[in-house]
Amino acid sequence: MSPRIAFLLLLFANNLFAADALRVLDGKHLRLTTDIPASAEVDALPALFDLAVPIWCEWFCVPIEKVADWKMEGCLVRDKLNFRDSGLLERVPELRTGFQFDNRLWVLEPKSDYYRRHLLLHEGVHGLMWYLYGELGPPWYREGLAELLSTHYIDGGKTDGVKLELAIIPRKREDVLLWGRVKLIHDDCNAGKFLTIDEVMTLVSKEYDDPNAYAWSWALTMFLATETANDNGGNVMLQMTKELSPTIPRDLKRFNGKVKELIGSEKFAVLQKRWYDFASQIDYGYDVQRTRIESFVVGKLIESGVKPVRVKSERGWQNSGYSVEKGKSYRLTASGRFALDNTPSKWWSQPNGITIRYHNGNPIGVLLMAVVTDKPDAGSAFMKPITVGSGIDYTATESGTIFFRINDSPNSLENNQGEAEVKFSRGIQDK
Ligand SMILES: [Zn+2]
Repeated sequence: MSPRIAFLLLLFANNLFAADALRVLDGKHLRLTTDIPASAEVDALPALFDLAVPIWCEWFCVPIEKVADWKMEGCLVRDKLNFRDSGLLERVPELRTGFQFDNRLWVLEPKSDYYRRHLLLHEGVHGLMWYLYGELGPPWYREGLAELLSTHYIDGGKTDGVKLELAIIPRKREDVLLWGRVKLIHDDCNAGKFLTIDEVMTLVSKEYDDPNAYAWSWALTMFLATETANDNGGNVMLQMTKELSPTIPRDLKRFNGKVKELIGSEKFAVLQKRWYDFASQIDYGYDVQRTRIESFVVGKLIESGVKPVRVKSERGWQNSGYSVEKGKSYRLTASGRFALDNTPSKWWSQPNGITIRYHNGNPIGVLLMAVVTDKPDAGSAFMKPITVGSGIDYTATESGTIFFRINDSPNSLENNQGEAEVKFSRGIQDK
């Protein structure tokens, strides 16, 4: 072997076994040690973290001055071996995604620019809450809030000189690679593992070994924040954060009781019904405004000659104002013409739907009905709607109020136009 080749081999072997150098990236609120080589994306992480801090402060209703001295010591870890001599991973439990303790955080490199930022912000929310309150609240609240305030959109997809938006429903899957919360919820719904609000609120820490618990907690905090938003920019998630210190009830039952008390029992009963539709339909670009169900008022019983009902194509479920009685039969007849999309051209539909495009197993444009009872799980009717199409003879299996919607994806309502009209008459085969 020539001395030159021997030298090259030695150089190669040394590189193979040498640890990658640790680099320190410093910002105002985060000092990040990492073994990931320099790149614009990774090197901008402390700046991104600093962009999030004023938004978090708004969410926690604290002035930015209150966190002027707050700084996290973070590790972004690609290979734990690279950190073995640094002492920075000592006493950290097995790192699977991220971890926070006091003013320290650790993130395991996830090989997705989006998810790397997400995990860093998630642990940052825990760190800030710990700094502000010395308390994170029960599992659904602490993980839900951390998920809510780390799910983000960056203008242009880059971290330099950009606008950061938090607490968003991601618009496209490609914007949030590896995040996966929507899919986890869909998978659970399809497997019959739908969780009610109370079931999410009583998840215990151990259940967060499973990423699905994070997905449900994110969905619930998103739901509660939007559905309880008031004109002053407040919502029940924030009200609870204000309660965190010093009066936070440590006990899960009392904490959840306080949330329900702040929402009010009447509103909470409405949210319980609405939750079935929100959680089972949550999707990228989900349209919170247009899917909101505006009224759950119990409808009048259908009598002969009642006025027809109009169903808007650009909205989610709509209360018809009428109710049916168990055992009685009714004839429903639907008509109308509406447009369901405008790219590349309008899809005109009638209440029978367009049978070459489907959403949730039904043609888009088909008229659907749900009968909402007064039972606690009444909202589950939205998850198994009855197909009306251009008309049906319907014998009520339960008494309840009729809701209608024109089937379409909840991220594609904005471009709809027109309405269906539904006429009712009483059937003749009443039992
Ligand atoms: Zn967490």
